[in-house]
Amino acid sequence: MTSVEIIAIGNELLLGDVLDTNTHWLCRQLSGRGGCVQRGAMVPDDPQAIAEALEATLCRQPDLVVLTGGLGPTADDLTLASLATAMGRPLELNERALAMVQATYEQLADIGLVLDAALTEERRKMAYLPQGAEPLHNPVGAAPGVTLREGRTVLVCLPGVPAELKGIFDSSFQPLLQDLFGDRVFLERVLVTDCGDESDLAPVVDRVAAEHPQVYVKSRAKPYAEGVHLRITLSLSGSDPQAVVAAIDATDRDLTAGLAAAGIAVLERVEGG
Ligand code: ATP
Repeated sequence: MTSVEIIAIGNELLLGDVLDTNTHWLCRQLSGRGGCVQRGAMVPDDPQAIAEALEATLCRQPDLVVLTGGLGPTADDLTLASLATAMGRPLELNERALAMVQATYEQLADIGLVLDAALTEERRKMAYLPQGAEPLHNPVGAAPGVTLREGRTVLVCLPGVPAELKGIFDSSFQPLLQDLFGDRVFLERVLVTDCGDESDLAPVVDRVAAEHPQVYVKSRAKPYAEGVHLRITLSLSGSDPQAVVAAIDATDRDLTAGLAAAGIAVLERVEGG
């Protein structure tokens, strides 16, 4: 299974000013493609902290590392410089990236959203990539995404602005995702029970999870209250869609029977989460 780590960069995240929705969104997307997200980290706009997080991540040799934030024109956008330092590669002006930045500013100038399309130092900064990196077209903003390879790991840097991150992910990132994930499928099924006490679900959930180790089986705790209906999530990814459905169905059957024996009913099933 494709292993993934995510590093979200930005002081605003650690101050609590901005909620790290990018990591949540990426986890959903990458798990949905059949990937296994193994770790997420939040680090400040500090070259040493970024480099340390990256070095620790690369030591684990995941298949894919996604970094978000810090690709813009301002002095505190340090992701690419930190990456270059951590990987011992110089930052170089990338002509393809420069052409992308230029084309974006020409479009923005044409529609009057910026004063002119001049390639100022701040705008050119977004086209300096670590040696060997390739730009990913950004259909929403000016800073291209960036991809590079280090050993067996593919690194992808995406902008912090959620619309830009999603724009790149849904367009220029897709061929790379296809290479990394192939046609794996991911299935999630949620069983809504009439039980409000997780400790009553636990013996059945634990037994069925042990009997179906390939399926992730997890009850979702909630505060004790009148009328609470706890949910149990079953999920699995794999390359054979029929085998994935069969494994989820078998787990569902055993879980439902075990819960019934414990006096707990399944009220509803929600496919896909
Ligand atoms: P730009 O090219 O627009 O400058 P950038 O890659 O430099 O983008 P940042 O400067 O790090 O991005 O962040 C821009 C804004 O995006 C932040 O002020 C914040 O509102 C939002 N943002 C950044 N990181 C995240 C995140 N992990 N989750 C949600 N929003 C984020």
